[in-house]
Amino acid sequence: MALNLQNAQFVRSAVKPADFPRDALPQVVFSGRSNVGKSSVINRLLGRKNFARVGAAPGKTTHINYFLIDEKLYLVDLPGYGYAKVSQAERARWGKLIEAWFADTSLMTLGVMLVDARHAPTADDCTMGEWFKGCGKPFVVVANKLDKLKKSEIEPNLARIREKLGLDESVKVIPFSAEKGDGREELLKSVLAAMSGAGDQE
Ligand code: GDP
Repeated sequence: MALNLQNAQFVRSAVKPADFPRDALPQVVFSGRSNVGKSSVINRLLGRKNFARVGAAPGKTTHINYFLIDEKLYLVDLPGYGYAKVSQAERARWGKLIEAWFADTSLMTLGVMLVDARHAPTADDCTMGEWFKGCGKPFVVVANKLDKLKKSEIEPNLARIREKLGLDESVKVIPFSAEKGDGREELLKSVLAAMSGAGDQE
């Protein structure tokens, strides 16, 4: 399936379930702790510089941003988690919103869970991993900031990510560098495969 990634537009920020688009278009959802490079990965995937904002001040932790790509696909940007300065109340609002999103499994075509290639997944990452595993939809893990690893660290770090998140063989872990571009083709392949799978079911 051809997908013109240049044709991308912001659609809306959702703050409650009634705001979630529920048309027939596939939805690819991006999730990760704040500062993992989620905006940078989205920009790299789309081949854009400043589409999703990089280094955006944390605070909009309770907004789910929807982008429409080539009028064929929603790219869903879940708010980053794990930011230390967020209040308990805001954390709770975040949890409720994400829970509502995952509860409606019809919304998700593919999950893209971002982790930092340098580190073992955090407790928050593991919780997010459980949400992805539990919803029964395909997902991939993107290990970002690959450029910060020595060559000898890559394989052991990827294995640690797989092991800590308890991923089975069907879940891809894609080494990625938003900075250099590694992994873009593989991520794009997963997105296109999920889209054509979603089309087959209609
Ligand atoms: P977000 O909070 O998850 O959206 O993260 P951002 O996209 O704003 O990135 C957080 C910081 O990490 C920024 O300073 C980025 O330049 C940096 N960053 C993101 N991806 C990479 C990467 O692949 N390699 C390196 N070295 N830095 C990255």
